[in-house]
Amino acid sequence: MSLPFVDLKSQYTRLKADIDRRIQAVLDHGGYVLGPEVTELEKKLSAFAGCADVVSCASGTDALLMALMLENIGRGDAVFLPSFTFTATAEVVLLLGATPVFVDVDPFTFNIDFAHLAHLIAETERAGKVRPRIIMPVDLFGLPVDYTALNALAEKHGLKVIADAAQSFGGALGNKKVGNLAPITATSFYPAKPLGCYGDGGAIFIQDPSKGEVLRSIRVHGQGAQRYDVVRIGVNGRLDTIQAAVLLAKLEVFDDELRAREHLASRYDAQLPKSVTTPRRVAGAQSAWAQYSILCSRRDELQSKLKAQGVPTAIYYPLPMHLQPAYIEHGKGKGSLPVSERLSKEILALPMHPYLSDENFEKVCASVEAAFAA
Ligand SMILES: *Cc1c(COP(=O)(O)O)cnc(C)c1O
Repeated sequence: MSLPFVDLKSQYTRLKADIDRRIQAVLDHGGYVLGPEVTELEKKLSAFAGCADVVSCASGTDALLMALMLENIGRGDAVFLPSFTFTATAEVVLLLGATPVFVDVDPFTFNIDFAHLAHLIAETERAGKVRPRIIMPVDLFGLPVDYTALNALAEKHGLKVIADAAQSFGGALGNKKVGNLAPITATSFYPAKPLGCYGDGGAIFIQDPSKGEVLRSIRVHGQGAQRYDVVRIGVNGRLDTIQAAVLLAKLEVFDDELRAREHLASRYDAQLPKSVTTPRRVAGAQSAWAQYSILCSRRDELQSKLKAQGVPTAIYYPLPMHLQPAYIEHGKGKGSLPVSERLSKEILALPMHPYLSDENFEKVCASVEAAFAA
């Protein structure tokens, strides 16, 4: 029996009739670009998240880029972000000519370290070379950051929060969902994310409805009231109608899938051996469980033993951003962010998706257990 890391085939088998019907409808009406499914999806996403408006876009990376463009971020502006993240979080800052300030992460939640963040904001303010403007936290592996504390810190320093929720759509803090935890939230619908389409896709969730119009203009080359008016610099950031159709079908079962992810995480918590560290639970926070990542001091050995047993794993992320060749000049080098650097050596993601069979779950747990048995 195969044991996939992410199982999109089983999901398609479950949803085939609805997905096929919705894609066929797009082929029949022919509105491939910004067709009616795009508007329908945006309405359903904002109802799901409980925010004022949602603007869909071509990828999670575009969602981050367009959010920064909305806030007019560019040269001379500092953006604070965790180093332990996917490259896109740092990339968009540099694309706009702004300055990334890499922050270390908490060793237990893997999310941005508030004490270190406050320290770096003060340091950047004192140095006076670039102007602190944005905090871009990342809800790593699906766990929302403590936005109550983060929004307060941002307000204290006059900064804006743009949440990188590429991995956490579906998560929540108390009864508030991701998409309505920060003024601006960016997510991704890349196939392997908790809610994924069949290609690239993303969305921006906003609490201030007046920002929707500007974002929709940025999404189409800075278009004004007339089609060939160019009133600002924009991008081609549209979500394909076919991808919106796929997402509409998947949104119907998303809550059910989130429950299955939570159930699987709880079973891992209970059954994995003490030789590995399971992810920290945060009271009141609901993860979307994009990944279930454990820590193990003999990570590479564990990974190769699991591979030999036919258990796929993945490493997110093998190198923190401040040590990446493309970004190293913007950081403070090796040893400067010790938690991020240690996590990159100890982290290991196990198979996590709503369709993992009992048999495969038992196999993953038994293989981890056997890896360090005497
Ligand atoms: C996936 C991801 C992105 C980028 O999303 P794409 O849709 O692949 O462009 C950005 N940030 C984080 C943390 C991600 O995991």
